Amino acid sequence: GSTVEVDPGVEVDEEIAEDDLLGGLKIDSTEDIEVPDRLVDQVIGQDEARDIIIKAAKQRRHVMMIGSPGTGKSMLAKAMSQLLPQEDLQDVLVYPNPDDDNEPKVRTVPAGKGDQIVAAHREEANKHNRRRSILMWVIIAAIIGYAIIVGPLLLGFLAAGVIWLIFRTMGNSGDAMVPNLLVNNGEQRVAPFEDATGAHAGALLGDVRHDPFQSGGMGTPSHERVEPGSIHKSNKGVLFLDEINTLDIRTQQKLMTAIQEGEFSITGQSERSSGAMVQTEPVSCDFIMVAAGNLDAMENMHPALRNRIKGYGYEVYMDDTIEDTPEMRRKYARFIAQEVERDGRLPHFTDEAVEELLLEAKRRSGRKNHLTLHFRTLGGLVRVAGDIARAEDREYTTRDDVLRAKDRSRSIEQQLADDYIERRKDYELQINDGGVEGRVNGLAVMGEDSGIMLPVMAEIAPAQAGGTVIATGKLQEMAEESVQNVSAIIKKFSDVDLSEKDVHIQFVQAGEGGVDGDSASITVATAVISALEDIPIDQSIAMTGSLSVRGDVLPVGGVTHKIEAAAKAGCTKIIIPEANEQDVMIEDEYEEMVEIIPCSNISEVLDVALMGEPKKDSLVDRLKSITGTTFDQGTVG
Ligand code: ADP
Repeated sequence: GSTVEVDPGVEVDEEIAEDDLLGGLKIDSTEDIEVPDRLVDQVIGQDEARDIIIKAAKQRRHVMMIGSPGTGKSMLAKAMSQLLPQEDLQDVLVYPNPDDDNEPKVRTVPAGKGDQIVAAHREEANKHNRRRSILMWVIIAAIIGYAIIVGPLLLGFLAAGVIWLIFRTMGNSGDAMVPNLLVNNGEQRVAPFEDATGAHAGALLGDVRHDPFQSGGMGTPSHERVEPGSIHKSNKGVLFLDEINTLDIRTQQKLMTAIQEGEFSITGQSERSSGAMVQTEPVSCDFIMVAAGNLDAMENMHPALRNRIKGYGYEVYMDDTIEDTPEMRRKYARFIAQEVERDGRLPHFTDEAVEELLLEAKRRSGRKNHLTLHFRTLGGLVRVAGDIARAEDREYTTRDDVLRAKDRSRSIEQQLADDYIERRKDYELQINDGGVEGRVNGLAVMGEDSGIMLPVMAEIAPAQAGGTVIATGKLQEMAEESVQNVSAIIKKFSDVDLSEKDVHIQFVQAGEGGVDGDSASITVATAVISALEDIPIDQSIAMTGSLSVRGDVLPVGGVTHKIEAAAKAGCTKIIIPEANEQDVMIEDEYEEMVEIIPCSNISEVLDVALMGEPKKDSLVDRLKSITGTTFDQGTVG
């Protein structure tokens, strides 16, 4: 059931839509795109989550959303609050309790009435105070007058002072009767939305302030010290709690109670404060909870709270990517328009700038024919690009601004990787020409979105005892596996039995955090074969790929980032698994710098990477004859 406007009120050229980066949108800039009013209609992708919040808003159910940051969880929660009826909003007042100052009274009235009630009380209090002060001054004047005429003047002043003091301390007793407007929905046009992410207990559940003068009779009355929590402010609306697992268990328990009862008394949250003595009558907290978090969040969540949502609500998993269709690309263009409007100061994006951003959305998805749904970071890119254009007083944000923004808004990992490449250049650890035996420029991914060149060196020595694989760092396991795989192949074409040799594998400068070695097995295999056969490897080449025992090159993750890293490091040819060919979405600037060579078999890899005929040719020929179909029939191991 979709109430969502699909096309943003702009003409679409269906003929070209399929191949067009803008999905056939005929626009000059994002200015031409209409942004829907309702937040729920601005949500892109996440169809399931959106349908659920629409349904949950109608039925007043709680929702749990699990997924990556920046994919629209809080946006959906806010959208939900806009879908709730606003008629039943309420104001909450706290009154002093003449019988017990520590138990203030609570009254709930229709929204807007609260202000009127407080105003009426204040009026009353002012009159009362005026009468009191007139009375006070009359008495004081009488005493002083009497003292002047009759008696010792000093005594007269003293008496007047005492009277004045008595009136002073009781002087605000008129104000003390004015109720405290705890929750004011008078101005609220839609149901409230409260984001209580990271809130401490007091902010979430309400609090009573400490009063140092409590015992002296000069203090602030307790009802004035009562403060609402998010659970009270979100009454009849939506309470959003991200990272739900970071709430301590006691607070989660209290939250549970609040949900069950629909009302929750406010008391001082810090035990040694005078506020802890105060406990109000229950205050309504009839909210819909939207809890959010990543997968771990569910583990640390109070099981009863989780069950509560399961039993009385919905759970939904947020998507990270979405299929790349012309319609979706048009929505991405609208996304930029939305972000520009929300910010209010950014220049709109030209069609070319939108196209560049779409390319980036494709790249960031890391998946064939998909677009990323990590909109917060994408929105960050929009703002940085827009800021660059704005700083130069331009009317529109251009493609060039987007490119510059991408450079500026690099992630920490990316900055680290770039810095790392720079430093290695200084130390000449980077080799990108000539031939070296046993050394391969491998590629790895750091963090989520940055590649790094990771040279691998292999050396073969006669076995000291038994024959082992010795690798540096955490990559031992992966190195062993790669060597095992390659030894099966080596056995087939040479008399060398690797299990009788010591194979040293060194990952040059690996271990500076976050390097994942899973995809380096063709690198290790190439290095080992080169070392074994004394054939040099072309250092202008970098490679990535996984290797099967049969010699097939299997696909790996992060090829785009890896290729870019190799290009930055000065390599000119890059070997990737053939199966990854469609995942390559490198930026134009790199396209001219490097040649990408897809390979499906280790013999192809070696054909490209090794140098020095005729030794190499003979090796590759031998390998070809045993891998592939012939190799299939052979026994492995
Ligand atoms: P989360 O709560 O999942 O961490 P948010 O909802 O706070 O993410 O998203 C941050 C911002 O990114 C939103 O304010 C919105 O501008 C944009 N955004 C996120 N998800 C979407 C989406 N699915 N469609 C459109 N914009 C989105």
